[in-house]
Amino acid sequence: MTKKLIGLFFILFFGFSYADNFILFREINLLIHQKEYLKAFIFFSNYLLAVVAVIFLLLSKYTRFITLFVIFITIGIELGCRTLSGSGFGYLDASLILHQYSAAGEGVKTYGIQLVLPFLESFMFVVLIYFYTKKMHLKHYAFAGLVLSFITFTVSYLVLKSTKENVSYPVMFKEPSILLYAATNGLYVGKRKDVNISAKKPVFKHIIYIVDESIRGDKLGINGFDKNTTPFLDEVFKRKNFYNYGIASSGGICSCYSNSILLTGIQLNQLPDIKNLSRKNPIIFQYAKKAGFETSFFDMQNTRENPDNFLQPTDIKNYVDYGFFIVEDYKKVKRYQRDLIGLKKLKDYIDKNKNRFTFTYFVKQGCHFSYSDKYPKNREIFKPVLSDELFSQWDLNIRPQFLNSYYNCVNWSVDEFFKNLYKDFNNTDTLIIYTSDHAQNLMEYMNIKQTHCIEAPAPSVMANVPLFMISMNNKPIPFKKENVNKASHFNLFGSVLYFMGYDLKDINSLYGDTLFNDLSKERYFTSGDIFGRGPMYKNKFEIK
Ligand SMILES: [Zn+2]
Repeated sequence: MTKKLIGLFFILFFGFSYADNFILFREINLLIHQKEYLKAFIFFSNYLLAVVAVIFLLLSKYTRFITLFVIFITIGIELGCRTLSGSGFGYLDASLILHQYSAAGEGVKTYGIQLVLPFLESFMFVVLIYFYTKKMHLKHYAFAGLVLSFITFTVSYLVLKSTKENVSYPVMFKEPSILLYAATNGLYVGKRKDVNISAKKPVFKHIIYIVDESIRGDKLGINGFDKNTTPFLDEVFKRKNFYNYGIASSGGICSCYSNSILLTGIQLNQLPDIKNLSRKNPIIFQYAKKAGFETSFFDMQNTRENPDNFLQPTDIKNYVDYGFFIVEDYKKVKRYQRDLIGLKKLKDYIDKNKNRFTFTYFVKQGCHFSYSDKYPKNREIFKPVLSDELFSQWDLNIRPQFLNSYYNCVNWSVDEFFKNLYKDFNNTDTLIIYTSDHAQNLMEYMNIKQTHCIEAPAPSVMANVPLFMISMNNKPIPFKKENVNKASHFNLFGSVLYFMGYDLKDINSLYGDTLFNDLSKERYFTSGDIFGRGPMYKNKFEIK
């Protein structure tokens, strides 16, 4: 019996790890690497405890069949999700099940055939366990199994709640805990409100709103940085159609939070967004459509099904006329090529729609950490650079090389990009609005071992972003010089609405100050979860 029990343990352990794509081992490895030995121990022992719980449940005649059934369903779902989306059952799948049964049902109908194999695998696993345990019985263990299950379920739920990340547990505990988390902490999913103000004639025919990735405002030559990272823009800067607002403060310090703020116009005084207004109020594309624009969304980072930035998948479907998601169509291109390919696609799109008004939101690949794969090797202007493998280190000794890599990336991602953009859109009736989602801690704060996206009070370097506009056909815009180095992401939504043709009075009452108001107040940016599901901080923004 002991031998058979050990055998069963390994069968289950292997089966659950397989279902989870062996994430368990990667997580333990990571924790050990970070010298978090106690966490690794607790984590691993809870996993083992979960397997023991399942053994107890399987060997009691009261709970045997229901346990087999639950294993079959949960492993089938896990493998099925991975077949369809590439990752296991996650928070988004859970909210889909909870809030959009119809979409979930539609998905099963469309992809059902692809689910056959995963569920067959799961079925075979359950059959194996059934025959293996057929003659094994442990009396009176059902209760112990239930208690252990409850403990492991609670621990996995609490870990999920505190880290908000998918952690590895046997799927029969993991999936229900994700579901419970989504049910109790879920964000609003559903229809958005309609736009209730109206627009006059748009100021520009084409509006291209570009949001870069991880670009620090004070590291651009045009903003007075002593290394010339932007020689091309320096030339453009002298022209009268270039409106540089200098250094702005970002809304958040993670891509998804900042983009959510930029797309929805949620204001600082509405954060944390406990009421989920940013998921109920109209998004920027709705305003664009109402003002008569064709809308397009170019995303160099995410997929259509999973657009991130706290967009609902239906947002793309309902409000975006044309979407380009490079990850879907250009799987093999190098990361540093993404933005330029996107730009080409954008040019094609605008050419095709040149007789219409178009509004485009363009999410760049930019300079996300680590930097070495975000510019081509032959564009190493600042040397020596940091070798790829050293990016995992956070060490002042390598900072000069680390910075050089970043400056090369900025030169490629900003200056080279705009050189191309100028070629494509010069002398067209186009307004370019440019900023970055957030900035970077470039080892100014060594105690924070992250460049951005921390869940704690954050230093201003993480929110120090560029902001400029270019009127490609020299049509003047109402630029306020006094607002240079005073703007914030929170001023941008309303400013864009102005260019779409909306009335400034309406805009101010709904979305506060725009770039055309007096912006001499103090600026704040957020860190942490803007929905308040975890801590959120309002940090004062300062330029050194
Ligand atoms: Zn980002």
